[in-house]
Amino acid sequence: MKKLELLRADFPIFQQKIDGKPYIYFDSAATAQMPSVVMDAMVEYYQQYKANVDRGLYAFAEKTTLHYEQARAIVAKFIHAQVSEIIFTSGTTEGINMVAKIWAAHNLTSGDEIIISQVEHHSNFLPWQYLAEEKNIVLTIIPVDQDGQMDLRLYYAALSEKTKLVAIFHVSNVLGTTNDIPSIAAAAHQVGAKVLVDAAQSIAHQSIDVEQLDCDFLVFSGHKLYGPTGIGCLFLKKSIQKECYPYKFGGSMVYSAGYDESYWKNPPYCFEAGTPPIAQAIGLAAAIQYLYENISFSKLIEHEHALALRAAQGLKALGFHLLQSAGSGHIVTFYHASIHSHDIAMYLDSHGIAVRAGNHCVQPYHEKLKIDATVRISFGVYNTMAEVEQFLMVMQSL
Ligand code: PMP
Repeated sequence: MKKLELLRADFPIFQQKIDGKPYIYFDSAATAQMPSVVMDAMVEYYQQYKANVDRGLYAFAEKTTLHYEQARAIVAKFIHAQVSEIIFTSGTTEGINMVAKIWAAHNLTSGDEIIISQVEHHSNFLPWQYLAEEKNIVLTIIPVDQDGQMDLRLYYAALSEKTKLVAIFHVSNVLGTTNDIPSIAAAAHQVGAKVLVDAAQSIAHQSIDVEQLDCDFLVFSGHKLYGPTGIGCLFLKKSIQKECYPYKFGGSMVYSAGYDESYWKNPPYCFEAGTPPIAQAIGLAAAIQYLYENISFSKLIEHEHALALRAAQGLKALGFHLLQSAGSGHIVTFYHASIHSHDIAMYLDSHGIAVRAGNHCVQPYHEKLKIDATVRISFGVYNTMAEVEQFLMVMQSL
């Protein structure tokens, strides 16, 4: 296992300098950078064995299928799932939309209820808002408490036998706070509801165990896990698979197709019609292997938390308002009473510091706070305390 400070050298993007200075990347919550081993694995596929999966009868086509399926097994192990519970998607957004289409659209009817929180990413809000309108389903939105977690008192009070789904963030992309998923899931299961966990912001920052979380669906994106864009995962619990129906149809998803009748394959294959993101799955597997070999999540949590805490304290001392009580997780979100967040982001960019400003795809919550935009800084394995100090020094002369 390498020391965290040494990992930075594995990421080619950080070899670039802006005005002779290394660039400070504080936007890993939007997308994390990739170590060279991930790119190497994808280049090797493109240069040495590019074929489609599950089709060719020549040697390197078999190698492609083998690597693609190995990637599925690596993802399964990473989140403690069974291999047949892993469906490759294009990312978190597609995963949530898939749950809406393959499960919710078939199992929820008029008058049923879906519960979400007030600070869901649009990807875990709009699919449910749309389905609710389409099928006359009640969408209940639970506020967060002062710790930035879904208010459990209000949540428990809202649950009833009408509740069929609780779709909830694991770590908030705007507050950085972690929801107590096992407690949320236990209460949901007591009334017979299923639980979908949006793990987009937790997957690269803590170890994920779908059994311990006790969830029915879990989604994440590879590009936030030091992998490539265009790949993600939907964990679809085995016991629910019989309640699900494919939503896209085409090559590779049937055992046999006939003019009169066709027979789908078993999951996960019936949910992966068409040519899948092969290079990306291989890249994602390489990213996970990289994490296994180079980090321990307990050390990473400590490190990222220390960075967030220092940034939060420093920003508070400079008169900025924080969206969370202290830096939590790998995210700090802030704003200034009189300087627009976009101006802050552009100022930081002019000093070689990349941050995100806007509503972070959580517009209703920003509207509730009556703030149109905030600045978000977020950390990954390659960030250092020296970068946080540099950032605070730059912020001092804003
Ligand atoms: N949910 C959360 C909590 C996120 O942070 C993001 C990405 N910002 C998404 C969903 C959507 O992820 P993607 O764009 O990779 O589908």
